[in-house]
Amino acid sequence: MLGDTEIGAELKAIYDFYNCVQPDFDGFMDTFGIACPSGCGRCCAHFIPDITPSEALIIGAKVLFGEKKDILKERIYSNPLEAIVCPFYDSWSEHHCLIYSVRPLVCRMFHSCVCTDKYGNKVFGGCRFVADSKSLSEETLAASDVKPMEDYADELSSIRGNSASTELLPGAVKEAVNRIGSALNLLFPDSREMLTLDQEAL
Ligand code: SF4
Ligand code: SF4
Repeated sequence: MLGDTEIGAELKAIYDFYNCVQPDFDGFMDTFGIACPSGCGRCCAHFIPDITPSEALIIGAKVLFGEKKDILKERIYSNPLEAIVCPFYDSWSEHHCLIYSVRPLVCRMFHSCVCTDKYGNKVFGGCRFVADSKSLSEETLAASDVKPMEDYADELSSIRGNSASTELLPGAVKEAVNRIGSALNLLFPDSREMLTLDQEAL
């Protein structure tokens, strides 16, 4: 529906970006034998991600059209714990995340986060709940081609529709839903489906 629009192009850009970088994070974990304990998810329980506009956009699209859209809408619009817990945290779902396929960059990097220290060395800021997460030495990291998270953040901020500015997930996703809804109403002004969606979601 949005394929030939600016929003459609932005959605494709962030989708392609995630598909491009995810193998890096998976490969990092495989290479260095890092794995989260089964059923953990503590990182999401007390955390609300700061996200870019296009990260919000792809989540907004899932909120409007995803398989569990009714649950997602309820989470984003009637979440009394909005200020302290990510609205999509769900301890009962497989990955503890109701939007796992479109989760933001920071969430993809919780367990494989390499940063650059003030001397320019790569350091692993592993999660304290991952066994042996501090065992990666600077020498090992320096010899590897792993990129620090700043590089990924730069790439993210440079893709279509983004900037370096971020916003907390709940507000950013609501804005994105509004933006998609407005675009759809312009594109399909006579569509009953779109009007219904507009009333429900906006
Ligand atoms: S990153 Fe840490 S807190 Fe999050 S699921 Fe993995 S081990 Fe648990
Ligand atoms: S978006 Fe998903 S992975 Fe990220 S903090 Fe929320 S529940 Fe956790």
